[in-house]
Amino acid sequence: MVRTIGLHLRLTTTLSDLIDKAIRQKSNVMQCFFILQETLSYVSFEEGELEACRQKIKENFKEVYLHASYWVNLAGMRNNGWRTFKREVELARQLGFSHVVIHPGSATGCKDRQEGIVYLSKALNRALEKYDDITIVLENTAHGKTSVGGDLEDFRALMALITEPHRIAFCLDTAHAYAYGYDVSTVQGLEDFITLVDSCVGLEKVRVLHLNDSEKELGSRIDKHATPGKGRIGLEALQRCMNHPKLQHASVLLELPVLEDAQEIELLDMVRSWDK
Ligand SMILES: [Zn+2]
Repeated sequence: MVRTIGLHLRLTTTLSDLIDKAIRQKSNVMQCFFILQETLSYVSFEEGELEACRQKIKENFKEVYLHASYWVNLAGMRNNGWRTFKREVELARQLGFSHVVIHPGSATGCKDRQEGIVYLSKALNRALEKYDDITIVLENTAHGKTSVGGDLEDFRALMALITEPHRIAFCLDTAHAYAYGYDVSTVQGLEDFITLVDSCVGLEKVRVLHLNDSEKELGSRIDKHATPGKGRIGLEALQRCMNHPKLQHASVLLELPVLEDAQEIELLDMVRSWDK
């Protein structure tokens, strides 16, 4: 079976151009934000363009991921970005996206992280009730303190509060895990991490890997992706993670620093060549 492998693409012009780029790269999955990189404005469509995008998505991809914008902070007590989240998810559904990835957010305004987890669970339960045609995917993060989802135990606590836990999926970001302090660069560290993921959320719920290298050191709690092979995790460990027998069912997305198109293709081809 061919692995589902692709890139997170930056929106610079139109969504249609972005989809065409993923098609040119022969990817069967892609991820993007709905925010234009340069202007931070929200994606817009010419007459008929949305329908054309929907059609291209349907014909060319196994999965398409929206990465929710960083203004969405569902673990926050107030100003949690619910309206932005709603707007983004509704557009993603119109376009036929399969998944929406969100960072759990930060427990702002809450007395502690536990309270943030409660607010997050309420927002997620509301989203589950509202939307049944797109899968919500929670991503582990690099941060500690008031940020939910650096420590994988947060997800265990969260899932106990979710009304339909089978409908929530997970994204494992290797760079975030490493920066948080899980040493996925070593054989034993990766085994320990996978055992912990299994115990906290269940490996079958891991839908996608963000197979990223980390520019910052183990436990730095700083989220800075490096070009695979140029960071502290390294190619050998990234390959080991992607090919781990317990993660074979997960799709693979690379979230690269800004690179030339040719370099992106080179890295995609390298990762595709790892697929056994
Ligand atoms: Zn990520």
